[in-house]
Amino acid sequence: MLVVYEQITSDIFRVYEEYRSDIGFSNSYLIVDERVIIVDTGLTSTPKSILEALKNIGKSLEDIAYILLSHAHPDILGGLKWLSSKTRGIVCCSQPTADLLKNSEEILVKSFGVNKNFSQLLRHKGININFKSLTPTRILENKSVISVDDKKIIVLESNGHCNGHLCFWMPQNNILFSGDELFPYSNKPNMFMIDRTGSFAKRIFTLELFKELKPQLICQAHDLPVTYDVANTISAALETQECWSRAVLEYFNLYSKASLLDIEEYVFKCFNVKLEGYIRKLENHSTILKILEFLEGKGLIEKVPSKNTRIDKQFWRIKNSDS
Ligand SMILES: [Zn+2]
Repeated sequence: MLVVYEQITSDIFRVYEEYRSDIGFSNSYLIVDERVIIVDTGLTSTPKSILEALKNIGKSLEDIAYILLSHAHPDILGGLKWLSSKTRGIVCCSQPTADLLKNSEEILVKSFGVNKNFSQLLRHKGININFKSLTPTRILENKSVISVDDKKIIVLESNGHCNGHLCFWMPQNNILFSGDELFPYSNKPNMFMIDRTGSFAKRIFTLELFKELKPQLICQAHDLPVTYDVANTISAALETQECWSRAVLEYFNLYSKASLLDIEEYVFKCFNVKLEGYIRKLENHSTILKILEFLEGKGLIEKVPSKNTRIDKQFWRIKNSDS
């Protein structure tokens, strides 16, 4: 069997799936003391790897005390159904995540603005939303504390990547579990996308918070944990957000009125973005839309009133511009 986990620190293990060009690595983390805390459940196949890791570190499913969910996206929830049925681990998430877990197909509609049938396509891509309804045992809020044996975890509500997104902070050793809030890449919006329920302003706020926390190690839901140059990685992620919003504004300097799709085409060209078919459909113009909402909130641009409600038919213009 392929190596499916690695030890990050003396008590943190990263369980991951093979690298994929569409979503990179999908990670789940084990925080190990007498008992075990799981952070995110990866893809549907992830529990197999979790089992393997547990076995090799002398633990079993019985030892799982908590299953913490950063947010309700298919690549985070894949192993949830199986794990929650096989362990007594307390499933913890935010209220918005809990609301989405009532009917997992709603996640596609509400969070990505795509049709329920999209779940078929996702399944074809190896991402299976495999539960109908799940009720978490504990709802987490900002600053909620989870204590297991000697481990203490503080919950940070971030709400950038999506509404209800949580990050988890271990103050004893300055380790941050950032979920899908931190991606330093500028040409992969699927990696740092903000879904239809998320907020660009809150993403920036969250990255600023990360900067203040000064983590020593960041464990992300995708890709490799950030083990060195952590401060610079956070700064680079902040810069990426800044570059994208600046590029959107730049477009309005060229054309004072523009549609979402025009702006997206321009920004994607600027950053050499190429999204694959199904990822493009899932991204669904969301990131640029959230940047437009952010700039609108800052009073820099405004939406042009329109009877057409389709998002790709909406126009924005520089505020107070007559053109
Ligand atoms: Zn996500």
